[in-house]
Amino acid sequence: MAYAVEWPVRWPAGVQCAVALTFDFDAESLWLANDPANANRPGVLALGTYGAKVGVPRILDLLETEEIRATFFVPGTTAETHPGEVEDIIGAGHEVAHHGYTHEPPDPDRHDMVAMEIERGLEVFDRLFEIRPAGYRPPDGVSSALSLELLREHAFLYNSSYKDDVVPYRHVLPDGSPGPIELPEQPTLDDWVYGARSPQHDRPPVPKHDVLEIWSDELAELHAWGGLATVVMHPQITGRPMRLATLRDFIAFARTLDGVWFATCREIADAFADQEADAV
Ligand code: ZN
Repeated sequence: MAYAVEWPVRWPAGVQCAVALTFDFDAESLWLANDPANANRPGVLALGTYGAKVGVPRILDLLETEEIRATFFVPGTTAETHPGEVEDIIGAGHEVAHHGYTHEPPDPDRHDMVAMEIERGLEVFDRLFEIRPAGYRPPDGVSSALSLELLREHAFLYNSSYKDDVVPYRHVLPDGSPGPIELPEQPTLDDWVYGARSPQHDRPPVPKHDVLEIWSDELAELHAWGGLATVVMHPQITGRPMRLATLRDFIAFARTLDGVWFATCREIADAFADQEADAV
């Protein structure tokens, strides 16, 4: 582990714990990738449409009120379908990162498919918004050595999908060379498991106060550990009134703790890279 960084990560001065508010802006792409037949099921697609139509504007309002910048992981097809919302995200100063092109999970056995998903996504961001995302989160969190190698080939700064740590670290590729920085996340701080309802996810939603308690308890301990809280949200879930209130109250709780740094994924990855450079 030649590129491993010593525990604990040294955050910037005055920081005890980093909080990355991240939004996977899937919109309809998730439902189309789950089942192409959903193209003819407007009632299912509408779950995703809500994220673009209501969720993103409401989330942007909350982030503006709270003066927090967040990271939105956007599939290429969502950017093509909802360019106005992506422009609003960029215009408000948030980070836009890569979340595949079609939202089909990257198959580690299909090099051309994984490469195409990354390259077509990059092409869309360049063509529509003249931006080049620094970070990537694979759809459905399907990570592989192939993805990491392709991310390095395309000079991505970071990946955010592995669930094996509570602080950023540098990937080591199979040949022993350094890969992208990892900003780990995991389901405890993911809105999907608490709030998704659909024909494919037929389960009772978890009440607001239960989610707030879980997220707050996790953050309090991560804070004590000096860790990174990567909160994974979806505009079609957290854009619902009750879930948005959960986020609002979670932010208020986080602000009761000393040294909490709300930052974009890119800012956190940059801080990690600076630390690596200092350690050399
Ligand atoms: Zn997604």
